[in-house]
Amino acid sequence: MSNTDLNVRELNRRITDKREDLIKLTQDLIRIPTLNPPGEFYDDCCRFLGERLGARGFDIQYYRAQGSPGDSDRYPRMNVVAQKAGGSGPCVHFNSHIDVVAVGNHWSRDPFAAELAGDLIYGRGACDMKGGLAASIIAVETYLEMYPNHPGRIEISGTADEESGGYGGVAYLADLGIMAAPRIDHVIIPEPLNKDRVCLGHRGVWWAEIETHGRIAHGSMPFDGDSAIRHMGAVMQAFEQQLYPQLAQKRTRMPVVPDGAKASTLNINSVHGGEGEAFDGLPTALVADSCRLILDRRFLIEEQLSTVKAEVTDLLDDLKRNREGFDYRIRDLFEVIPTMTNEQAAVVTEVSRAIEQVLAKPATMVVSPGTYDQKHIDRIGKLNNCIAYGPGILTLAHQPDEYVSVTDMLHSAEVMAIALHNLLHTATPAAKT
Ligand SMILES: [Zn+2]
Repeated sequence: MSNTDLNVRELNRRITDKREDLIKLTQDLIRIPTLNPPGEFYDDCCRFLGERLGARGFDIQYYRAQGSPGDSDRYPRMNVVAQKAGGSGPCVHFNSHIDVVAVGNHWSRDPFAAELAGDLIYGRGACDMKGGLAASIIAVETYLEMYPNHPGRIEISGTADEESGGYGGVAYLADLGIMAAPRIDHVIIPEPLNKDRVCLGHRGVWWAEIETHGRIAHGSMPFDGDSAIRHMGAVMQAFEQQLYPQLAQKRTRMPVVPDGAKASTLNINSVHGGEGEAFDGLPTALVADSCRLILDRRFLIEEQLSTVKAEVTDLLDDLKRNREGFDYRIRDLFEVIPTMTNEQAAVVTEVSRAIEQVLAKPATMVVSPGTYDQKHIDRIGKLNNCIAYGPGILTLAHQPDEYVSVTDMLHSAEVMAIALHNLLHTATPAAKT
């Protein structure tokens, strides 16, 4: 056995022995209610991670994304990066977002009690993605116990605001050159994509607001006015008759899951027109002079953003030519280009091999229907060697009674530790500074 061969049996024994530690760590993380919005307790969560990893010899840096959306002294956008340098070799980085989405209704348990029931830990963020974060920490800590003299550099980060675009988190750190090439060689994001799947990337996003205009009048004499809501009705009818059938025809070669997301999709996020929603008693009799619609278009790697936009504006321009009184304004809100890591990248092949080794079945390659922080690592950080891999069932994310399985966390921790070892022993892709 050469010194680069990993003792897999010993690794398995040690990770299995850490079951209680893993449960406690996951519970501690869930019990810090890092709700976004507003961006609550980020500092507490970062300090918790920094203290734990600092005590294990990591060099800890905190970064507040000052001036990023939502950042304030009350709700600082805090991030933590822990580094453990070894001999010469590549840098492997595990990145998890620390924020969780709003609790919502229909919970049968306390969302921040982190109750353990059998093999499952319940709570907001259990699946997305504190379970993944805990698994990656256990993976790295176990690995370091076995191989304190490892080559390369191991990093773990906890970052802000993934659920609201990641601008105060990964985007900020990528901009600083921290979460970026050439400083980092391989990134694993333990998002809940299931323990046997490697997620190569995600579809693209275009959010936009369309406003139709009208003319206000008394509601008893609508013929004296022009209803912006009826004009928006015409827009939605054009979507139904022309755009939706067109989108359903577009299929991608990206291995997107679930299957429905292999087509191009459009969600009408919201429609607001006329009278304000908050009134007491009865509404007043008015013809709406404005109606706004927010659309959420998810597109495929085969599509160009400019074409995606033109499909909508062509319909609107058609209405403008053919429908009396129709006028509109459109405003871009958010856009993300699709990204997909090369299947031959070492981070893909090593995590796939490790999955096969631990679970005794081949890994499945997938692409996420929605975006996550990989977009910033790819576009701002100029680093394509990035995947999402972690425990947790994708469809439980953002749901009531969200949970993560302890067995799944243990399995994925083992996969992450094996992949870490093999990645640290790959040739350094570029000279490090
Ligand atoms: Zn997530």
